[in-house]
Amino acid sequence: MTSPQPTPLFTESEIAARVATLAAAISRDYADRGELLLVGVLKGTFIFLADLARRIEVRRQIDFVALSSYRDGATRPAELRPVMDLRGDITGRHVLVVEDIVDTGRTLAYLMPLLAARSPSSLAVCTLLHKRARREVAIEPDYVGFEVPDRWVVGYGLDHAERYRALPYIGVIEER
Ligand code: 5GP
Repeated sequence: MTSPQPTPLFTESEIAARVATLAAAISRDYADRGELLLVGVLKGTFIFLADLARRIEVRRQIDFVALSSYRDGATRPAELRPVMDLRGDITGRHVLVVEDIVDTGRTLAYLMPLLAARSPSSLAVCTLLHKRARREVAIEPDYVGFEVPDRWVVGYGLDHAERYRALPYIGVIEER
């Protein structure tokens, strides 16, 4: 079965240039702070995080969390729950959460207090994509790759029903 080709939104080279700019800004901001811990939110972030981590020029470590969004007929809106926690302690560390896309903001509204409660030295967010139109929670990421319209975006790690993650560019598909 073939999937429809997404309509390109950002090309491979546009993404590479933007990731380099983000990495330069992060490297500058964290230059004097010691080691940085990049926390990727699985799964959508895995390609962005791999590219970003290789471009950042300060000492850094990498960890991951995974959340699942749980919806049954009676539960609205979908309920988030952790399915994989960090491997290490973040107390006293500089933590940068790396997200694929911030949409309603509910994922970060759930995750950030959980991480803040573990007393990191600093806690910030870098998101590749920012879909401002559907924001429900007052959350402003510290680093943003691209603003995107209220469409379903795929590629460069982002999926639709687990398809398109390995697409090298970011595109839009019609169905939601
Ligand atoms: P939020 O909690 O901010 O509404 O949504 C965050 C999560 O929703 C993202 O990490 C991502 O998994 C999913 N998401 C929201 N919009 C899109 C989209 O346009 N494309 C894809 N692939 N995932 C999205």
